[in-house]
Amino acid sequence: MKPDIPIVSYMNQEEVFKKLVSHCKEYGFVFQSSEIYDGLSAVYDYGQYGVELKNNIKKYWWDSMVLLHENVVGLDSAIFMHPTIWKASGHVDAFNDPLIDNKDSKKRYRADVLIEEELAKMEGKIDKEVEKAKKRFGETFDETMFRQTNPRVMEIQVKIEALHTRFAKALNDGDLDELRQIIVDSEIVCPVSGTRNWTEVRQFNLMFSTEMGSTADGALKIYLRPETAQGIFVNYLNVQKTGRMKLPFGIAQIGKAFRNEIVARQFIFRMREFEQMEMQFFVKPGEELTWFEYWKAIRIKWHRGLGFNPEHYRFHDHDKLAHYANAATDIEYKFPFGFKEVEGIHSRTDFDLKRHQEFSGRKIQYFDSETNESYTPYVVETSIGVDRMFLQVVAAAFCEEEAPTAEGGTDIRTVLKLPPALAPVKLAVFPLVKKDGLPEIARQIIDDLKFDFYCQYDEKDSIGKRYRRHDAIGTPFCVTVDHQTVEDNTVTIRNRDTMEQERVTINSLREMVGAKVNMKLLLK
Ligand code: ATP
Repeated sequence: MKPDIPIVSYMNQEEVFKKLVSHCKEYGFVFQSSEIYDGLSAVYDYGQYGVELKNNIKKYWWDSMVLLHENVVGLDSAIFMHPTIWKASGHVDAFNDPLIDNKDSKKRYRADVLIEEELAKMEGKIDKEVEKAKKRFGETFDETMFRQTNPRVMEIQVKIEALHTRFAKALNDGDLDELRQIIVDSEIVCPVSGTRNWTEVRQFNLMFSTEMGSTADGALKIYLRPETAQGIFVNYLNVQKTGRMKLPFGIAQIGKAFRNEIVARQFIFRMREFEQMEMQFFVKPGEELTWFEYWKAIRIKWHRGLGFNPEHYRFHDHDKLAHYANAATDIEYKFPFGFKEVEGIHSRTDFDLKRHQEFSGRKIQYFDSETNESYTPYVVETSIGVDRMFLQVVAAAFCEEEAPTAEGGTDIRTVLKLPPALAPVKLAVFPLVKKDGLPEIARQIIDDLKFDFYCQYDEKDSIGKRYRRHDAIGTPFCVTVDHQTVEDNTVTIRNRDTMEQERVTINSLREMVGAKVNMKLLLK
């Protein structure tokens, strides 16, 4: 029987997400931080398989940026930085989110997120109408035509556009009263109390601060960086000069960032301590929009390169441009809780370098030897959260499907259909039984291959159960050593996705598995 019925597609998406979260815990991917002390809100730890997957995602990004672009170099700047950096960047004065409380439940929300969720709900209503019609009309159904002409859909669409325009204006004007009024007029209720008893909307700064230095009066108030980008800007001169870099060139960095998020829900989607992969690309003024388009194309290709459903990605241009930006878009992925930002691509003009020049008193410019002039470069950045990407990958790979059992029946198997290059374990090796010299051969195979990719030995339970355990963590290949191996040095290798088994020689494993799990396959 072909195991190609993804049960998850029939499940309610909330259920899918719950399953995903418990799967991550049960199989050692993600744990709540400080769990034995009842946890710390919106902070998570990565377990034995999580850290492998996370490292592979980071490698996929790093190699695609640094190895494949000869004009992009790396950096690892400190988390602690001079506090004036955050004055210059605007974070001290303006790194705020609009918050609102429900007076009955005492729960706190981001006003903008409440409105965005309302918009998503309305879009969901349209999708439901489309689904219903699809079932009704069958093969003759023309979705585009239906969306353009169905009165109910058109009515909701008009409402969405009106709300969207009003919301974008309020954000752009920084009008907190209007944000509140939109929540009231849209009759948005608190999901906990179900009431509309809202406070005013207030601004809340997201930066964590601490003190550096031992004496009370001499201590310096410093911030935990809320983004890695500023570490790149303040090292622009160092890298440009020591690397003799010519424009255009980029600096890439992976590192931790911290934000005191108002509402931290949806698992590792929004955390208070997280990791970013950012690249700032310095260009000649006037060329930034061309490079913006270039990086948009490169980045969406990187996402699509993983081979998941291409319809689950989209660009979302910003309604509100930061005052320093002249173009900005997000790459969004369709999570079980809707389309959400995974990565931002921003054209930031010369704002950051100019501000650091102003606040530091140091000249931060580029001397263009072709035109014999000095100027401040413009910047296009790509910024993606490692953890959010991790969640995206797991959400896309998570699958429950019918599979045959050894007894000839069927059951449901849970499988992470990860791209092999990202899978934590590449090859699992099982002796059929724990005797007759089979464990020794299995260990010998691992000893031989462990320098090439991550292998794991497993001898507990039936082969079927061992397959299932490795399906659940996404291991692409499982090898079984049996009695025939002793005679002719062959083993069976089983493919995670097709569940098909093949008999091959032990000597061919390195090349066979190595070719399939190589990061090159994704990068090319
Ligand atoms: P959001 O609107 O979701 O708060 P943002 O627009 O503030 O995100 P950026 O400042 O552009 O996000 O950060 C770049 C990337 O860093 C985001 O696309 C996301 O992947 C990641 N990121 C930002 N905040 C968090 C967080 N609290 N937890 C996990 N990842 C985050």
